[in-house]
Amino acid sequence: HAPALPSLDELVDGVRAGRRAMLARAITLVESRKAAHRALAEPLLQALLPFTGGAVRVGITGVPGVGKSTAIDSLGTLLTGKGHRVAVLAVDPSSARTGGSILGDKTRMARLAVDERAFVRPSPSAGTLGGVAARTRETLLICEAAGYDVVLVETVGVGQSETAVAEMTDTFLVLMLPGAGDELQGLKKGIIELADIVAVNKADGDGGTRARAAAGDYRAALHVLGAREAHWSTPVLACSGLTGEGLEELWAQVRLHGERSRQAGAFAARRSAQQVGWMWTLLDERMRERIRTHAGLREDVPKITAEVAAGRLAPGLAAARIAVRLGLEPT
Ligand code: GDP
Repeated sequence: HAPALPSLDELVDGVRAGRRAMLARAITLVESRKAAHRALAEPLLQALLPFTGGAVRVGITGVPGVGKSTAIDSLGTLLTGKGHRVAVLAVDPSSARTGGSILGDKTRMARLAVDERAFVRPSPSAGTLGGVAARTRETLLICEAAGYDVVLVETVGVGQSETAVAEMTDTFLVLMLPGAGDELQGLKKGIIELADIVAVNKADGDGGTRARAAAGDYRAALHVLGAREAHWSTPVLACSGLTGEGLEELWAQVRLHGERSRQAGAFAARRSAQQVGWMWTLLDERMRERIRTHAGLREDVPKITAEVAAGRLAPGLAAARIAVRLGLEPT
């Protein structure tokens, strides 16, 4: 038997007071797909909206094993030591498939997990990438309303989830491994479009020299590609999440990126474009959900899909048929 839902006022007050239990319940509500929960989640988000927007939002990506969780644990601890309150969230499309999560294992962020000034929340464990990302975004807002002034959003190095995280953060940090070559190619392909800061991780012990050499290579490659925005050229640092070396400099660059973006007007533009983009994402989701549950279409959509898959029905005509049935187009 589920415990009674808190009232909207209890939720708003509890979140605003930074009470962890209420924060966790609020997040569970926005992650839920149950109609009763959504019905409470939406006014909750609206009520909290005036108290959001205050955090430094940082996206962090890199291939599995690059040292994301170690670096987030160290950076987060550094920041809580400076008096910040740090929330760590994740967008992990693989968790939608496996039910697991990149943040499932608490030991991955052992220090932050027991830090009073930190809040670590694993990725929502089900849904489409769009759905997982939407809920992480809502969780981010709830954390801001609860007074967290730094939000770190982690994702694995997979194209679409990286874009989703870049679209909900102010500064996008890409962690790389020392050892150029292949990664230089990766840098050219997609990441360069998203990265505001590149950090070559594991710059410790024997890896130090290699990491600094790799950073030099990346710097040269970025220079050739040219700056994406007039006010910012992506810096390349070397750091170690394990020893903490270079993390002060990394944080200084995050702050500097925020300052420069604000001065150039890009900060507000990025956030408002993100808000509008998110609205459309949610609308897309709703339309798909409507198609999935529409009484007259529930049975026909699989049939139409099969016809398209078999090459008997043109995709455009199929889409038009569905649109007509939904009342989006005249018959
Ligand atoms: P993630 O998959 O990106 O989250 O990577 P993890 O943080 O789990 O780290 C993967 C492995 O690399 C672990 O064995 C870590 O101990 C190791 N590792 C992580 N950060 C560093 C670092 O800065 N230096 C070194 N030498 N090893 C590291």
